[in-house]
Amino acid sequence: MKLNVGWFSFTCCEDSTIVFIELMNERFFEWRKLINFKYFRTFKSNNSIDDLDIAFVEGAISSRKEEETLRKIRENSKKLVAIGSCACTGSPANQRNFFDEKTKNEIQFILDRFNHKEFVLPLSDLVKVDDYISGCPMDEKIFLAKLDQYFKEFELINA
Ligand code: SF4
Repeated sequence: MKLNVGWFSFTCCEDSTIVFIELMNERFFEWRKLINFKYFRTFKSNNSIDDLDIAFVEGAISSRKEEETLRKIRENSKKLVAIGSCACTGSPANQRNFFDEKTKNEIQFILDRFNHKEFVLPLSDLVKVDDYISGCPMDEKIFLAKLDQYFKEFELINA
């Protein structure tokens, strides 16, 4: 038995994804026995969001399409974990929320063209978030400790 994991990136610079890929240099063989990556577009082309045990979600939500996808991920995941500051708090990906009126007017055509929301939001404004791993990018020590905790919760390693 393995943990069915999805890794998702929304509006952000994707640095926590890079941290995770770098961790694989040391952990790949250990994780291969414990994790089934069902969705990870950075290194897989064949992806599915069905029946996820854990969805790790990086980035803030800025468009209606992202919101729809996030809600779909929530419906299909036992646990949803916000990864990094943008997902946890919205910042710094939400800088446009604080633009003055003049600057907002200047970018409005981009928001209209790409069906963006009025504000860029953290995940918890839209769906239930089960856990948070903060940092910009995510703190890798906290991530590794949490991952161990999830392996125990899902009974893949002994508590
Ligand atoms: S939290 Fe920081 S590192 Fe992560 S996506 Fe946002 S800006 Fe990038």
